[in-house]
Amino acid sequence: MDLPRFVIEASEAESMAKELGLSVLQLLPSLVKSAQKLARPPISKYHVGAVGLGADGRIFFGVNLEFPGLPLHHSVHAEQFLLTNLAVHGGPLLRHFAVSAAPCGHCRQFIQELRNASEIQILITSSENDLEESQNFKPLSSFLPNPFGPFDLLDKETPLLLEPHDNGLSLVSKTIDSNCGNLCNGVCQSYTKNESELKMAALEAANSSHAPYSGCPSGVALMDAEGRIYTGSYMESAAYNPSLGPVQAAIVAYVASGGGGGYDRIVAGVLVEKEDVVVRQEDTARLLLNKVSPKCQFRVFHCSLASNGCKRPASNCE
Ligand SMILES: [Zn+2]
Repeated sequence: MDLPRFVIEASEAESMAKELGLSVLQLLPSLVKSAQKLARPPISKYHVGAVGLGADGRIFFGVNLEFPGLPLHHSVHAEQFLLTNLAVHGGPLLRHFAVSAAPCGHCRQFIQELRNASEIQILITSSENDLEESQNFKPLSSFLPNPFGPFDLLDKETPLLLEPHDNGLSLVSKTIDSNCGNLCNGVCQSYTKNESELKMAALEAANSSHAPYSGCPSGVALMDAEGRIYTGSYMESAAYNPSLGPVQAAIVAYVASGGGGGYDRIVAGVLVEKEDVVVRQEDTARLLLNKVSPKCQFRVFHCSLASNGCKRPASNCE
């Protein structure tokens, strides 16, 4: 059986469009139904699918995710999944997407975090009784007039969502030493190698994190039962509440990898964030991971700006 796919390569998108006598842009709405089938909304049973075209010609899927047993604000909306899926795959610019239902206010605000937000073209496929809406793309600015966004709070040079970030973080060595000494206790040698890899992946994710408002970037790396690693970077919104946590982002990477497995296949997770700062992910990350995969081993490592921390952190923890 073919694995569900969340990314279609540019050449394949072109040949799919050609076969149907469509342009690649016209192909987007025709894929929305297949995206909806990949959604995981066990609470609402309301499947949302979003299909976006990256500037590099690849097509990206987004779907909604809901987590039973947790408050609703932990859910991931399809448009957030779409942007995270783009971020996981190198962050190509997004100019067009088609979506099964009108983007909610939360998503309109989240998309506002992109530099080209007002020009992003959106097509709603469910507008069947409104022929014009179901066939035409309309800019985000028509869905979100008078937006509040990054430019109200940041200078123009600050990198925005889907733009390259380097937060200049490295792991704090004293944290690693005390964690290894106190928690591993020398009995988890087989886990340590994987953990070292996970830790560096989570650090990399923290370095790509978009957290210009709080200055508290963070990243998560998850490992599945086969040892594959999925990373997620914390992404902030100028309006705070639509921000997406690093565990959700890493779960998006896990789902988008196409494995299609349950979350209980996630066996280990590492969070990297700054210590004693105003925005921390640790408690929420532990709660969420524990709910979706109760046996997952979860560890936290702290980081700081490279000038204050250890330059070669991994070697301290062998
Ligand atoms: Zn939404």
